[in-house]
Amino acid sequence: MRKLTAEIGVEDFGKEIELYGWIHEIRDLGGLLFLILRDREGFAQITLPKKVVSKEIFKKARKIKRESVVRVKGVVKEESKAPNGFEIIPSELEILNEAETPLPLDVTEKVKADLDTRLNHRFLDLRKLRINSIFRIRSEVLNVIRDFFHQHGFVEVHTPKIVSTATEGGTELFPISYFEREAFLNQSPQLYKQTLMSAGFDRVFEIGPIFRAEEHDTVRHLNEAISIDIEVSFTDHEGVMRYLEELILRIHEKISERCEKFIERIDTNLSISIPELPFERVKYDEAIEIIERRESIEWGEDLSTSALKILGEEFDGYYFIVDWPTKIKPFYAMPYDNKPEISKSFDLMYGSLELASGAQRIHKYDLLVERMNEQDLNPESFAFYLEAFKYGMPPHAGWGLGLERLLMAMLNLRNIREATLFPRDRHRLVP
Ligand code: ATP
Ligand code: MG
Repeated sequence: MRKLTAEIGVEDFGKEIELYGWIHEIRDLGGLLFLILRDREGFAQITLPKKVVSKEIFKKARKIKRESVVRVKGVVKEESKAPNGFEIIPSELEILNEAETPLPLDVTEKVKADLDTRLNHRFLDLRKLRINSIFRIRSEVLNVIRDFFHQHGFVEVHTPKIVSTATEGGTELFPISYFEREAFLNQSPQLYKQTLMSAGFDRVFEIGPIFRAEEHDTVRHLNEAISIDIEVSFTDHEGVMRYLEELILRIHEKISERCEKFIERIDTNLSISIPELPFERVKYDEAIEIIERRESIEWGEDLSTSALKILGEEFDGYYFIVDWPTKIKPFYAMPYDNKPEISKSFDLMYGSLELASGAQRIHKYDLLVERMNEQDLNPESFAFYLEAFKYGMPPHAGWGLGLERLLMAMLNLRNIREATLFPRDRHRLVP
């Protein structure tokens, strides 16, 4: 008999139903009491006219505290003034668990709270349907991603998160103790997903955590994030860029179609537009020219936050920055044959926000070792990885896309912490 508030319709008018949820609001007009019950899907008005409901229920309802958990059984009545056009006249009201007062956070948002306070009491913050909707969409995004890759013949894999080697050098690693040895939390599945190309999987995807011991505290960095990674054999950077733009298009299509209610809850002005393919490809050199009009930048420099801001003013929506200088991309990015100072690499951008990085990878052992040495990495500490290149590694390419960054772009969130349940940042380890 349990119903969710959103499942109640005209067909229920006059019938008895049962709801479970939280007491969102209480309005006491003396002889008439309104309780607003909230569940995952919405609200229902519980109306208690003193003269109609039992004395015992009325007394109990009057003492109820906000955010207490209840079970309500009653008849659904049409009521044009109530939210969704109906009310419930209760015949049973059970308090399953009483909430203490005062609440550390106002779920109705009449009293606003700053982000820190919200995150400190995240379980209450997430009770707000507006906030909860972000995570309902996040779940659907993951659903679409898995569908997309399975349809394209990818195998979903999980690679270790406890590792002995840094992916790209050791500065951004969290050390941990692993019995008598030192180990690290993995900053990227890069080395393992490439190894799986040598293992013959042909195309793999992984959705999992990446750990970055970055000191900086920005609105677009977390110390633990979720990365969507792919690696594909017998293709190049262009091949995997096409997967990336098609995936983004598919996500936008499906989310705008399936998540209307959640999008509106987040912001009534928010709309998920359908981007046009192909995304613009802006060469690194062109990006530098644009930036140079406003601030000085040397060829071969990585793009600073202010440089990215300038690009964000020039390009809106999704676009690629391609053909990066080899020296500022990781050692495994494939240089062009005829122009080795440039690599077959790309970043997917949304305005000034980097969403993904990818490249065709070096698949030749000798070149890989040469590039490691150039970047002052010790090939010996990459022995397990390098071995996979000695005995038949196919040409391959791939990328890593940050899930929280993608949600920021799609849902117009100003802080990456909004897109993760329990963010880990420079100052936050709890909850
Ligand atoms: P940035 O330059 O923005 O710090 P990056 O180039 O170091 O990012 P990559 O190593 O290219 O990041 O990782 C691939 C993707 O993973 C990024 O484009 C981003 O979407 C996501 N990502 C990387 N680091 C973080 C982080 N600290 N917090 C959230 N997402 C991240
Ligand atoms: Mg990057």
